[in-house]
Amino acid sequence: MNDNGKTLSKNDAPNHSRIVNPNPDSALRAKAGMIYDRLYAKYGDPTWPILPALDELVNTVLSQNTNDRNRDIAFANLRRRFPTFEEIRDADPEAVIDCIRPAGLANQKGPRIQAILKAISAERGDMDLNFLRGMEPIEARNWLTKFKGVGLKTASIVMVFCLKMPAFPVDTHIYRVSGRLGLRPAKMNVDAAHDYLAGLFDPRVYGPAHVNLILLGRDTCSARKPVCGECLLTDLCDAFIRGEFGKA
Ligand code: SF4
Repeated sequence: MNDNGKTLSKNDAPNHSRIVNPNPDSALRAKAGMIYDRLYAKYGDPTWPILPALDELVNTVLSQNTNDRNRDIAFANLRRRFPTFEEIRDADPEAVIDCIRPAGLANQKGPRIQAILKAISAERGDMDLNFLRGMEPIEARNWLTKFKGVGLKTASIVMVFCLKMPAFPVDTHIYRVSGRLGLRPAKMNVDAAHDYLAGLFDPRVYGPAHVNLILLGRDTCSARKPVCGECLLTDLCDAFIRGEFGKA
């Protein structure tokens, strides 16, 4: 449900000219701020390997439906065999598929990666994505998401970590944790959650807010069995207060 009591649907996915529209609910923004502060006190400003934008784009296409380890093996295989993106673009498709097999869905991901690289070089004449920094954030995101296999999460990761542009990526951990905490309407879909959560946090802290929510989701607020007894957010968590995971 949104603030007006309307159930959000796929059609409510982001469709406005700016990515960062501060949420009008100041109490919810304040709650997000408190959650951010507590997570920051626990996890700090996490170091996050920053890749060049195109590396990150390819990396996140590889990461779909697999774990970080398998993604990293596939990406390393690919870069070892084809040191430049031009070589990946022009390679025999079977050779690319072979390199990325550890990441799974190689028959789908290989052609997608090559199609993205072909489209970028055809449009731009080179493989440099830094031109996106000169665009409005919404234009940059629209440019990135026009490629098959690049969704809002992938585009947002590239923007916030590689290009230092405001965008809030929502992965499976953040989607689950934000729902339990009550930071977003329960039925809001994951695409709509990107801009909704972006409206709750200070754009200057999107990077650590994103990573620290993931860390909480991994070590405490797991999908199957959240360890609420060890959580530092129980008094701010709607699911815990409702008694969904034991007595509040
Ligand atoms: S109190 Fe429990 S459900 Fe709520 S965020 Fe913490 S671990 Fe997750």
